Amino acid sequence: MKLDDERESRNLEDRRGQGGGGGGGGGMGGGARIGGLGLVAVVVLSLIFGVDPGVVLSTLEGGGAPAPQSQTAPSQAARTPPAEDAAARFVSRVLASTEDVWTAEFATQQRRYEAPRLVLFSGSAASGCGTAQSAMGPFYCPNDRRVYLDLAFFRDLAQRMGAPGDFAQAYVIAHEVGHHVQNLLGLLGGGRDNAASVRTELQADCLAGFWAHRADQMRRILEAGDIEEGLAAAAAVGDDRLQQQARGHVVPESFTHGSSAQRIRALKTGLAGTNSGVCLGRG
Ligand SMILES: [Zn+2]
Repeated sequence: MKLDDERESRNLEDRRGQGGGGGGGGGMGGGARIGGLGLVAVVVLSLIFGVDPGVVLSTLEGGGAPAPQSQTAPSQAARTPPAEDAAARFVSRVLASTEDVWTAEFATQQRRYEAPRLVLFSGSAASGCGTAQSAMGPFYCPNDRRVYLDLAFFRDLAQRMGAPGDFAQAYVIAHEVGHHVQNLLGLLGGGRDNAASVRTELQADCLAGFWAHRADQMRRILEAGDIEEGLAAAAAVGDDRLQQQARGHVVPESFTHGSSAQRIRALKTGLAGTNSGVCLGRG
């Protein structure tokens, strides 16, 4: 990706170093505390890229739109990341790009886009949806409209899940922002069963693809090989792939995010989209 000349977002909250030291792989014994790789894999399996099931439930039962600000957020004073932190800057630039794309896209519908905040944390962090744990993988919390991301996940994505590359990471961020877009449009928490969850997740993949397509149109950010990285990441987080790795067999009825093939197809649909309607059923 070519992001060096892009602006950074003002919506990044750097809470790294403030949380507990679990799961970050920093030699703090987090793996043992959690119970070993197998358990981590199972937790990741259920929550990767996800909206915590409890969150969806509470959103459903709450009925109305989530409060824009969490009362449990420990600090409103966002710290900007250290200038030398390339990984955080990358996240910030991708986030800024999603802001530009979705602001423009919402404007075509005469709507105002309210950007989410993105919390970088290490180990664990308080969220409006309970405690964010590194082992959960990145997630979006509709209650406080924040994306929670431990950068250690990107190391996992590259090394353990076999999906390296900057665009693979951008896809993850854009997928979580896709959940925020769904939230703004009233499309989150639409069901309690697995099939509804799969539809929601595939739609977020599609929205991530649409972001990349529009961002590239606007700012020429994609380079050769980027799309392939994204598709490899989408395959890596397919339920069938993850279940095969974790359990050695696949149970399609238990899918919550979609198979590798479904996720690739959803991302491709968004990448080919001329407007977000292709993802939202009005294309
Ligand atoms: Zn998701």
